[in-house]
Amino acid sequence: MKLEKRSVFGWPGTAAGTAPCKNGLVVHYDGANQGLARKGHDACRTYWRNTRKFHMGPSRNWADIGYSFAVCPHGVVMEGRGFGRVQAAQPGGNTTWTSVTFCSGDAERPTSEQVNAFKELRAWLRGKGVAGAVRGHRDFISTSCPGSILYGMVRDGSLTGTPHEEDDLPSVKDVWLTDGIIESPPETAAGGNKYWTPGSYLVWGYRQNTETNAKVKSLEAKVASLESKLDQVLDLLREKQQA
Ligand SMILES: [Zn+2]
Ligand SMILES: [Zn+2]
Repeated sequence: MKLEKRSVFGWPGTAAGTAPCKNGLVVHYDGANQGLARKGHDACRTYWRNTRKFHMGPSRNWADIGYSFAVCPHGVVMEGRGFGRVQAAQPGGNTTWTSVTFCSGDAERPTSEQVNAFKELRAWLRGKGVAGAVRGHRDFISTSCPGSILYGMVRDGSLTGTPHEEDDLPSVKDVWLTDGIIESPPETAAGGNKYWTPGSYLVWGYRQNTETNAKVKSLEAKVASLESKLDQVLDLLREKQQA
């Protein structure tokens, strides 16, 4: 799980009191489409900081950002109040459930990375004793939150199940282009990079092979030409002896 803790956002420890929060997870959205999937992750951090400012500002006046956690379209879990803290997220479940917002609006379908981050967060919290239940904000009070798409996913079980870990493995291309994982051949190291990418190493090896093959072929040709010259000399000697 890629977890960005409060310190990443420059926030001190939360002022919120402790609470069990172990009944399960409650899914939220923003209400307004944010388009974060089309932007870099920096936009998510800005969004998260602004959400806290709004929640602590004059219109809400809360002690901290309202949610326990967020999961962004890039598959990052961003910490809000964190686990085991009273929230300002779903009245009726603020001390017994753990809130997770998807930072999205009604028309925004979560990315597969985002769904996976939710599953990873859920698995991590289950390890801390949180029950497996997943609800939507509207299961607590009358609200549109978490929107039709996310609420559909809450109901059809898309947000539960085992997270996949393939994303943690580098692709073949990543490995091919990774600098510094193979020691360069000793005859090339002087003055150059001591470590190469696998790609550089294989290209070098192929070229060496090609050069070696060319040398062997030219030596073979020279030996053949010497042999034929020797034959001619021997023939001449034989002719002289017979004469
Ligand atoms: Zn909500
Ligand atoms: Zn992000």
